[in-house]
Amino acid sequence: MRDGTRFCLGLPGVAVNRVEQDADGVRTVHLGTDDEAAAACPECGVFSTCVRQRRTTRPRDLPYGEVALEVRWHKRQFACRERLCKQQAFTESIDELPPYARITGRTRRAAAAAVGSGWSVAAAVTKELPMSWPIAHAAFAAHADRLLVELVAPEVLGIDETRRRRPRWAKNEAGSWSRLERFETNFVDLSGPGGLLGQTAGRTSKTVVDWLDGRGEDWKAQVQVVVIDMCSPYRAAVQQALPDARRSLTGSTWCASPTRWSRRSAARVPGPARTSRPGR
Ligand SMILES: [Zn+2]
Repeated sequence: MRDGTRFCLGLPGVAVNRVEQDADGVRTVHLGTDDEAAAACPECGVFSTCVRQRRTTRPRDLPYGEVALEVRWHKRQFACRERLCKQQAFTESIDELPPYARITGRTRRAAAAAVGSGWSVAAAVTKELPMSWPIAHAAFAAHADRLLVELVAPEVLGIDETRRRRPRWAKNEAGSWSRLERFETNFVDLSGPGGLLGQTAGRTSKTVVDWLDGRGEDWKAQVQVVVIDMCSPYRAAVQQALPDARRSLTGSTWCASPTRWSRRSAARVPGPARTSRPGR
């Protein structure tokens, strides 16, 4: 029979050393590494037996029972003795908790599944799982990236920007903060049922060109008309990335809803042959 300390948490690579409970009933589970590969240098792959120091981290994990567990992972930091290796030291890590990760992979996956299944939003996930909104959003974005299929090119492409109401800041795994881009550029299929094709951070010409170039030349060649507002960065981007497409300028905005904007604008653009201000 397998050692129960290895699999009672269901977290591969660690084993339970002991569990404590304080006067408030909060349980703290102390983990040790149970993965021989964790002693291998990530740079050269050579196993090390030279322990430099021991560290205790506090990774956040899924709730366990009705009350969440406090987790303490007691890790070793090894020195790599290989003469030609650039990595002088490394700390144990496992697949579920790679270097600098503070949240287990299964917690991120649970957040992504909660948002992706349609019954929750990132803000609601933060009330159920131990993570902030940016982390929940990033988990879902990574999940979505794995599922996204290649977009079908529209005959009429709409491009416009939206803006967040308030600036947001995001903390990366290393602990430093950076302000998230407040504007998003949105790409909409105005000729078919495609709706919102994609979004990208920023509203500069480069932002638009990069997104369009990322679709490939065959994709871009199928776009006959581009609908944009009177915005010089977008106009320059279309000239650069879609030089053969006709441009249609519109004064409409779509702050309320990309879908509603799409419907209104589609009504104003009956077809590629009729553009409001051709040649602009
Ligand atoms: Zn090494």
